[in-house]
Amino acid sequence: MLLKVIAVVFIGFIVYILFFKNKRVDGVKKNDKLISDEMVECPTCSTYVAQSEAILSSGRFYCSKECLNNKKAK
Ligand SMILES: [Zn+2]
Repeated sequence: MLLKVIAVVFIGFIVYILFFKNKRVDGVKKNDKLISDEMVECPTCSTYVAQSEAILSSGRFYCSKECLNNKKAK
């Protein structure tokens, strides 16, 4: 009887550890996503835009196609 109780508590402990570990892994994944969404400054209008939404041209990030064209016109 006592052994059965210990086994149930032990299994519950393992499940808790696995759940806690998975939660921490999710947290790391969220941090990775934040890094890819880093804010970059548009060289034309100095507006900060998320890297994932910016237009990449010649190693620079532009907030819109308009700013990209304005930069080329100069
Ligand atoms: Zn811009």
